[in-house]
Amino acid sequence: MAQDADHTYEAIIIGGGQAGLATAYYLLRAGVNTLVLDDQDTPGGGWLHVWPSLKLFSTAEFSNLPGWPMPAYGGFPPAAHVVDYLTAYEQRYRIPVERPVTVDRVDHDGERFHVQAGHRSWTARNVIAATGTWSAPFAPTYPGTFNGTHWHSANYPGIETFRGQRVAVVGGANSGAQIAAELTTVAEVTWYTREQPRWMPDDVDGRVLFRRNRERALAIQRGEPDPGADSDLGDIVVLPEVREARDSGRLQATPTFSSLDEVEADHLIWCTGFRPAIRPIRRLLKNGRPQHPGLHVVGYGDWTGPGSATITGVGPSAKQAAREVAASVGKTVK
Ligand code: FAD
Repeated sequence: MAQDADHTYEAIIIGGGQAGLATAYYLLRAGVNTLVLDDQDTPGGGWLHVWPSLKLFSTAEFSNLPGWPMPAYGGFPPAAHVVDYLTAYEQRYRIPVERPVTVDRVDHDGERFHVQAGHRSWTARNVIAATGTWSAPFAPTYPGTFNGTHWHSANYPGIETFRGQRVAVVGGANSGAQIAAELTTVAEVTWYTREQPRWMPDDVDGRVLFRRNRERALAIQRGEPDPGADSDLGDIVVLPEVREARDSGRLQATPTFSSLDEVEADHLIWCTGFRPAIRPIRRLLKNGRPQHPGLHVVGYGDWTGPGSATITGVGPSAKQAAREVAASVGKTVK
């Protein structure tokens, strides 16, 4: 990839997952001199870190990045299928990704951004943060002590580790329901949720959510009122394995404890979500908004656009960021 002698780019994207690749796709098409820096050894982003049995909640034809659809798969694809897709996508569009490079900090000198990773540094007119969330798992704080083993859905290794043991699973959204459901086949599970689980209708899967998110994203971009969040539909997509565990009575919710002292289990798995992994750019944000015109955030969910944390949903916000970056260097994203 062509670059100036002093490592100056028109755009540097931090993060080589789906959000970074989708943004790079649009930038490269517009002829923007772009570099992607990613801290993983291989392509795949957060999909390299999900639990072994995880499957998408929608079929391949509803899991497309801009330009090139996900290759067909019978049924709901596993994470490995997404990793293969991202690997091929990166090669197909010759997206210049340097790995592994962990960006430590980004500074702005009033004109340009300085991106630092250990002893290495780059300069850029624009920086796009697309660092995802998997490396910033969130767990709430409770009083008391739990003496068993703490886990998070971010490092949940699959059912075998828990066979024959007592497991507390905390969290009333998709990861909590899916992990608790599969564990009920091998372990004594207590599934803690703050409220009664809010199941989506059985016929709602990713397709409905993606369509809804796209309508929301486009309406917001047009300056129209937000037509409403997915949460109106419920919190949990009723995948076949989850439905079976729920309908057979194996999967039942218990109101969340008020102190960890109440939890009688060998393992406690927090399925309580993630936060944006924005440590390198945090100083450049004010009230969650970039302070400099050349700084963009892509792929973090509602913060950066409805559905933008999904494969199909990242397209509109990636395109919007790419448009602004391209315009800043006199180029056009079509
Ligand atoms: P990531 O995939 O996390 O990519 C960001 C990349 O940046 C990573 O490689 C990361 O390691 C790297 N990075 C982070 N910090 C730095 C740094 N400082 N320097 C350099 N690199 C850095 N979406 C769907 O569309 N369908 C689904 O069925 C679906 N199921 C999901 C199930 C689970 C359990 C989870 C957690 C998510 C699911 N998603 C699903 C949501 C979404 O598609 C993923 O979270 C996706 O990985 C987000 O892509 P991203 O590019 O924003 O972030």
